[in-house]
Amino acid sequence: MVQGPVLVFAESFGPDFRKSSLEAITEGRRIAGLLGTGLVVIAIGDGIKNAAADLGTYGVDKVLVADAPDLKTFHPDYYRTVGLEAVRKVNPSIILIPATSSGKDLAPRLAIHLNTVVAAESTKLEIEGEKLIATRPVFAGKAFLRVTMNSIPFVATLRPNAFDAKEAPAKKTSQVEELQFNKPPSRMTVHEYHAHAGKKTDLTEASVIVSGGRGMGGPENYKILEELADTLGGVVGASRASVDAGWRPHSDQVGQTGRTVSPTLYIACGISGAIQHRVGMINSKVIVAINKDPEAPIFGFADYGIVGDVFQIVPALTNDLRKYLGK
Ligand SMILES: Cc1cc2nc3c(=O)[nH]c(=O)nc-3n(C[C@H](O)[C@H](O)[C@H](O)COP(=O)(O)OP(=O)(O)OC[C@H]3O[C@@H](n4cnc5c(N)ncnc54)[C@H](O)[C@@H]3O)c2cc1C
Repeated sequence: MVQGPVLVFAESFGPDFRKSSLEAITEGRRIAGLLGTGLVVIAIGDGIKNAAADLGTYGVDKVLVADAPDLKTFHPDYYRTVGLEAVRKVNPSIILIPATSSGKDLAPRLAIHLNTVVAAESTKLEIEGEKLIATRPVFAGKAFLRVTMNSIPFVATLRPNAFDAKEAPAKKTSQVEELQFNKPPSRMTVHEYHAHAGKKTDLTEASVIVSGGRGMGGPENYKILEELADTLGGVVGASRASVDAGWRPHSDQVGQTGRTVSPTLYIACGISGAIQHRVGMINSKVIVAINKDPEAPIFGFADYGIVGDVFQIVPALTNDLRKYLGK
């Protein structure tokens, strides 16, 4: 029986919230509307009080703010403690968490304490009767599971870019309540947090990714991918072959042992389309492959394929797009 509110975790990035958090809040608002229940956000970070107070533009009824220097970056035990305190306060029926690296770590930690389970990396939520049904990809995106849970709260992580982030038609004045954060004992210490230098957008949140593989031939050649990505307002990703070769940092790697991404547009350049790469990018809305081998497996699942040499196709594409976009 769904009675409690929908509780959404809002993860901060500096003084603002991540785009994936705004997506989760927007979806939380839709679900709360369908169920006729409230929408509560737990905002975690350091120096986020102003951003938290502004969440009324997303139709949030209540914001629980946990603002402390120790919460600046993700710490598994600290975030779990805050999460459990929020759950104790509002007794939610549904908990939505963005499926970022931190969210994917946090969700099962909360679930185990709440004696419930997690629908991981959900791409769609529906209400049937009083039950929440989450759709999530399995087998490298070859099939989708529709999952419902008999336990409450229902915990789901939401895949970035699978949901829209939209302000509410009518702004609300959110009730803001500060959560007292008492640092729990922990065997873990976060020593340093390295933001990716020069990267405007996190790979998992990017709506356009231009990825390069072994076919790029060397690190210096990624410049043409950066130019294409800049033109489209996107970021550069990579296959494991190019990461293993030391051409790109591991944080750029897409795939089974790298990041799972779901951009609107994924352009794979000189990437063969091995299953371990496919698993990380198959949920992209549109996949474009550029490969000189017409038999490359990637053409088996790309929406658009260009058979040709990346060194001819990519600069020509960038050139035409610049003209088209007036850049
Ligand atoms: C346990 C495990 C985990 C793995 N995890 C990952 C992972 O997370 N991510 C990942 O990507 N891989 C992963 N792999 C590796 C994966 O199996 C492949 O080896 C890898 O994806 C291949 O990378 P690639 O497509 O860049 O290279 P290749 O398979 O060598 O393909 C290069 C492609 O470039 C094309 N090409 C060459 N020159 C040009 C040119 N001038 N113009 C156009 N096309 C050109 C070729 O035709 C070819 O199709 C994993 C493997 C294992 C065993």
